[in-house]
Amino acid sequence: MNDCIFCKIVKGDAASWTVYEDESVKAFLDINPVNIGHTLIIPKKHYKDLFDTPKEELMHMMKAAKKVSYALKKALRVTSLNLYLASGEDAGQEIHHIHLHIIPRFPGDNIKIHYRPKPELRQKFDEIQLKIRSMINL
Ligand SMILES: [Zn+2]
Repeated sequence: MNDCIFCKIVKGDAASWTVYEDESVKAFLDINPVNIGHTLIIPKKHYKDLFDTPKEELMHMMKAAKKVSYALKKALRVTSLNLYLASGEDAGQEIHHIHLHIIPRFPGDNIKIHYRPKPELRQKFDEIQLKIRSMINL
């Protein structure tokens, strides 16, 4: 993907503040941080979203997230974290190379993550449970 900014970062054709990398993943500071230490984990190969990414690559991403999280805890005294992954445009994915956000949290940092529950959807739980379970191993 020639026009992918994350592929450019992997190749060294765009600047990044790398905090960790190995043969399969790279972790670097988000250029638009919502808190100090906000880090992105990406696979070095280009995969679009969660559907496109092999599970082995996802496992590498999560292992790197664990490693980076401990470093954030020690280096920046991070007390809590949010992991965030947007897969697809309807979920707010803006760069179409899968990436996992590690967002450090601190007491009183006042970052709000908004989800508004829709309790009326509980009426559909039986039906939805059956639909999902029937497709879970396909
Ligand atoms: Zn890419």
